[in-house]
Amino acid sequence: MSRLFEMPTHFLPIILSSPSGAGKTTLTRLLLERCPELRFSVSHTTRTPRPNEVNGKDYHFTGRDAFEQLVADGAFLEWAEVHGNLYGTALSEITRTLGIPECRGLIFDIDYQGARQIRAKVTDVVTMFILPPSMAELERRLRSRASETEEALQRRFAMAKKEIEHYALFDYLILNDDLDRAFDELRSIVVAEQARRTRRAFLAESLLRTGHLAPLPLPQ
Ligand code: ADP
Ligand code: 5GP
Repeated sequence: MSRLFEMPTHFLPIILSSPSGAGKTTLTRLLLERCPELRFSVSHTTRTPRPNEVNGKDYHFTGRDAFEQLVADGAFLEWAEVHGNLYGTALSEITRTLGIPECRGLIFDIDYQGARQIRAKVTDVVTMFILPPSMAELERRLRSRASETEEALQRRFAMAKKEIEHYALFDYLILNDDLDRAFDELRSIVVAEQARRTRRAFLAESLLRTGHLAPLPLPQ
């Protein structure tokens, strides 16, 4: 199948998914703090912003009509309806990130429907799904975040099992029981994937050709 996006071979696209409340926003934040070479793919959504969320940083908050226009214009790499709202990854997010010289990878915080679409379109994407230690703890975390109405919380919790049923779409399952331990797992996977032969081949080739390691290639 022809892919829409042939990523530069040294580039690491990461999909992080989970049922709502399992901890992907928390783990993504930690990863971005520790790995300045990675960037966050800012999605569009029709959801109302939470009090701590910043437009353009957490999401591009968009009205439903404007979102549907973007769909009609073919602006999205993927999009889906999740918990009654529309969410999508704009193609421009990828081209923007590939244009940042120091950027070596991109984190997509998206649901399993989006993961399925991106896997079909983007080369060498690494997919991870975060599991909570129990359904009771998942509900407790959702409640502790206090970001939804009781009705919206119930809706999210009711969807959790369906989302976990799609675990087989993912390369890695991260268990978020203790946060530090879960972060170690996530970071170890990222480090291993960064060292994958296909992503480091340019180093070996450069040694053979010039006797030196190449600087990381410039974005294509
Ligand atoms: P998601 O982005 O998957 O919906 P969040 O990252 O917002 O989930 O986490 C939901 C809530 O659970 C937040 O209040 C967060 O602080 C908390 N949380 C995340 N990971 C853990 C953990 N390992 N132990 C306890 N609480 C956690
Ligand atoms: P939240 O409203 O809690 O920020 O996100 C709800 C769900 O939507 C999460 O599972 C999150 O990963 C998913 N999501 C966020 N952005 C996107 C996106 O661009 N595309 C898709 N398919 N899902 C997204």
